[in-house]
Amino acid sequence: MSLRITTRPRLEKGERFDLVIVGGGPAGLSAAIYASRFLLKTVVLTVDIGGQLNLTNWVDDYPGFTRISASELVARFRDHAQSFGVRIIPGVEVKSILREGDMFRVLGTGGVDVYANAVIIAVGARRRKLGVPGEEEFQGRGVSYCSICDAPLFKGRKAVAVVGGGDSALEGASLLSSYVGKVYLIHRRREFRAKPVLVKEVLSRDNVELLLDTVVTEIVGDDHVKAVKVLNKATGESRILEVDGIFIEIGFEPATDFFKSIGLEVDEYGYIKVDEWMRTSIPGVFAAGDAINLWRGFRQVVTATATGAVAAYSAYQYLIEKGLYRSASSK
Ligand code: NAP
Repeated sequence: MSLRITTRPRLEKGERFDLVIVGGGPAGLSAAIYASRFLLKTVVLTVDIGGQLNLTNWVDDYPGFTRISASELVARFRDHAQSFGVRIIPGVEVKSILREGDMFRVLGTGGVDVYANAVIIAVGARRRKLGVPGEEEFQGRGVSYCSICDAPLFKGRKAVAVVGGGDSALEGASLLSSYVGKVYLIHRRREFRAKPVLVKEVLSRDNVELLLDTVVTEIVGDDHVKAVKVLNKATGESRILEVDGIFIEIGFEPATDFFKSIGLEVDEYGYIKVDEWMRTSIPGVFAAGDAINLWRGFRQVVTATATGAVAAYSAYQYLIEKGLYRSASSK
């Protein structure tokens, strides 16, 4: 199913909204669906539609769907929000949110400049990097951060490495084992934090070699990755693995600089501090999804959609309390 929006909805410069939602992943789109049910004039400004769901293949734990492709679930979220009249504007990176009188002015790439009475931040988190020599140099030339996106490019290759011990790495290792001759799964500890079902799947693959208690120390190559150097922390043994690529799947980190630039309070890990109603430190600004400090160890589509729904409800309540809610008949 295609996620391309052929006609981009119009957005007037200086246009006023009840609510601007920043981010179009599960949290932002769920917030949009709920906001539209509260009859809030809402726009979603987002870099892409789907967020981290675009980095996964299948979803088999979202209630109501035994198994659904991630792209179809995204399309359903998008269509659901649009069917209620929400405008979704992809390709926009929001750069700043300024308080101007009673309103928030939201500025983004592509000349986006709109006003809102309330804002929901649902920008997710960005990919974590290893920070080893060669990582930057070979990015896009054998260094990838998304097995789901790039695995087919490695079809028929001899070997690749996957780094990480979470769901992404284990899912990536399974997928890659169908495309390449050999997969080295490199994890810094002995225990995986991935779901047991994903670990079981990897263990069933004959062509996956586990390198536990092991870290990558360098990525080397010429015009393309040729090998990775690894160190077993338990034994002190170093090895050079000849590989055609390395998939770094070590999780995500928050866009702390952006949050701080808006003036939001963040926790010790850099995630937006919210209360149980998704209220941030700034009245009128709410947050949802992977950007918030709740449930950090358990990021799921269902938790993201839940916080998005709560954030939309809180924004609606805020607008009523402030006397900013215009009834449907006045819109
Ligand atoms: P994650 O759960 O945060 O796991 C990151 C992994 O990378 C951990 O094993 C961690 O090691 C390791 N790591 C972190 N920093 C590292 C570093 N500097 N060097 C080496 N290793 C490092 O991230 P994720 O796997 O991307 O998953 C993110 C969220 O998406 C999770 O909530 C996950 O459940 C969800 N997800 C779900 C699915 C699915 O259900 N099919 C698929 C993908 C993702 P430690 O274990 O030692 O901390």
